[in-house]
Amino acid sequence: MTASFNLLIDGRLVAGADHFDVINPANEQVIARCPKADVAQLEAAVAAAKAAFPAWSARTQDERAALVDTIADRLLARADEFARLLTSEQGKPLDQAHNEIMGTVFTLKGFAQMRVTDKVLTDEAGHQVFEHRTPLGVCAAITPWNFPLILLANKLGPCLVTGNTMVAKPAPTTPLTTLRLGEILADVLPAGVANIICDQNELGPLLSSHPDIAKVGFTGSTATGKKVMASAAGTVKRVTLELGGNDAAIVLDDMPAKLAAQKVYQGAMTNAGQICVAVKRAYVHESIYDAFLEEIAALARDAVVGDGAEQGVTIGPVQNRMQFDKVSVLLADAARTGTVLAGGAPLDRPGYFIPPTIVADLDENAPLVREEQFGPVLPVLKFSDIDDVIARANDSDYGLGGTVWGKDTDRAIAVARRINTGTVWVNQHLAIEADIPFRGVKQSGLGSELGEAGLLEYTQAHIVNAVPL
Ligand code: NAD
Repeated sequence: MTASFNLLIDGRLVAGADHFDVINPANEQVIARCPKADVAQLEAAVAAAKAAFPAWSARTQDERAALVDTIADRLLARADEFARLLTSEQGKPLDQAHNEIMGTVFTLKGFAQMRVTDKVLTDEAGHQVFEHRTPLGVCAAITPWNFPLILLANKLGPCLVTGNTMVAKPAPTTPLTTLRLGEILADVLPAGVANIICDQNELGPLLSSHPDIAKVGFTGSTATGKKVMASAAGTVKRVTLELGGNDAAIVLDDMPAKLAAQKVYQGAMTNAGQICVAVKRAYVHESIYDAFLEEIAALARDAVVGDGAEQGVTIGPVQNRMQFDKVSVLLADAARTGTVLAGGAPLDRPGYFIPPTIVADLDENAPLVREEQFGPVLPVLKFSDIDDVIARANDSDYGLGGTVWGKDTDRAIAVARRINTGTVWVNQHLAIEADIPFRGVKQSGLGSELGEAGLLEYTQAHIVNAVPL
């Protein structure tokens, strides 16, 4: 525990009013003391962002985008250091941590390429009507612990390019990479344009109700998202909510069982299943169901579970004790009522390790099928009829993502069209890019991130309607 971390307030890297420990989930050892902001520091961060807004928003988009691009370059130059820090606080294997850093770089660079332009609605005989876009002001970014940096980039990029300023607040169990990024932000941006404060879950409500904050970009659980929406109502704040999911993978009868198992396994177990759009339930056609189960159980048994910092590890720990306990309860219930084909119980060692677990023969209403497990435990269910499986996939309060797998791509696309979620991938998964909008329907979210839609969420449209005298 040698490295030190600071908050970023008004361009200065400062100590917190207090501090708390950050734990490595692979061994439950303290890896750093995280500075903890008090209410006065939150107020100072918001005031700094508010004071920085006029000058920042007056710059051209090109100038702001160039600085966002520089942030990405600085991060790229320190990618290995950031990846190691990410593995130590989040738990994911080093190659996956590296992928997240590179994804963060590409996301920031993607937004640095985007521009907001006026939309001409009428231009006839001197009558001009156009939609003009202006920044909102101070925006808050509240992020979760599964992808701490990339989910910040989804907010920071569009926020800064469009001329807003920011107060960011990472999750209490994964604040360190965000704070390191703060060092880059302090170096590249004018004082106050981006601020970072840390908490142990107390400050989020103060941000989402703050009168000087115009918008909250939130990624996290549906339960917390509802609280953000409620507390934002007091000031009619703009919110973008990226929330939970219970994504179905549908494996059609013309899909080779082995390939399907590889794809679904990867989609369910990457980042130890802690991905909002992970495969959280797999529906497999009865004609290949048994072969699929055999293949996917073998993949789960072959996984190398351990500290993500060690070479060869393919699946790291669950990120924190609370999530570990939650997944353990779902797992114990599933083991009682279903058939466990691989994995089955948390490992008896320090660290929050749950081996990749495949469960068959569960009832459609089993908690592991209905709820978001957010861990490396996958229920596999059988289907015989397309209409029936589509109805089962759609029978959820969530509507985030999903996948359809089949050799006949057109038939798979026809199924994908009927899945009621924000994104459905066909014969691929986790293809998330800066220029493609990402959103949840139903209780999986509100508004968009990424793409032009995600950029515009950080702007206010107003109409100018002019005629000559
Ligand atoms: P969480 O809701 O517990 O916490 C998210 C953030 O909200 C943290 O920074 C936390 O400190 C803060 N927070 C806590 N209480 C708050 C309050 N009352 N007001 C404002 N902020 C508050 O989520 P988590 O457990 O960190 O993340 C896991 C969840 O995130 C899963 O449900 C997952 O599906 C979801 N997620 C969604 C997406 C997406 O894009 N849709 C992406 C990643 C994760």
